[in-house]
Amino acid sequence: MPRRKEVEMALQSLRGFEDPTACLEQYETPAPLASDLLHLAWSHGDLEGRVLDMGCGTGVLGVGAALYNARVVGVDADAEALRTARSNAGAAGVSERTDWLRGDVSSLAVTGADTVVMNPPFGAQQSGADRPFLSAAERVAETAYTVHNQGSLGFVEAFVDGNVTDGFETRVTLPRRFGFHEEDEREIAVEVYRIEF
Ligand code: SAH
Repeated sequence: MPRRKEVEMALQSLRGFEDPTACLEQYETPAPLASDLLHLAWSHGDLEGRVLDMGCGTGVLGVGAALYNARVVGVDADAEALRTARSNAGAAGVSERTDWLRGDVSSLAVTGADTVVMNPPFGAQQSGADRPFLSAAERVAETAYTVHNQGSLGFVEAFVDGNVTDGFETRVTLPRRFGFHEEDEREIAVEVYRIEF
């Protein structure tokens, strides 16, 4: 098992989105949050099998899971982000345990994952954008780790046929990135849930 701090440092050094697209809500998961989420998953024994990183972006969560020795498939709608994810996997030395596929989570062909890890769009640009992610996770996996706006627990438990069995709260700083952003950066409260389907 790699040390938690080593995973965080490895994730910190990965490349981010070159040209982020607002409508896809492209933000990299900050390395400390990713490493805490993965440590929680590891402590539940959820990184031992096949892990699906849905909306993988530049691969932070998937590369991190592979550092814990999981076999990872990352799926994203954006070809350019996938190229960065592939190159990040190479830089982290986990290429042989990772595959990066283009696809929309609403019509996902991948099946039979043990665990989903995801930081889906929060629905800030397109209301309900997190719903196809939750539905797909429920369809393909036994367990999911997912990041949401603070206060989403009730919605998530009502939306999926499953239970939130663990999780934690934290804060993330979103950089000023898109033209419509008014502040230089914004700190938001988020919650990570472990869902058992
Ligand atoms: N998981 C990454 C990126 C989070 S940003 C990380 O933790 O850093 C959300 C990602 O979801 C973006 O990369 C975006 O391209 C992708 N995405 C948004 N809607 C999608 C959809 N319907 N199908 C597949 N990917 C989608």
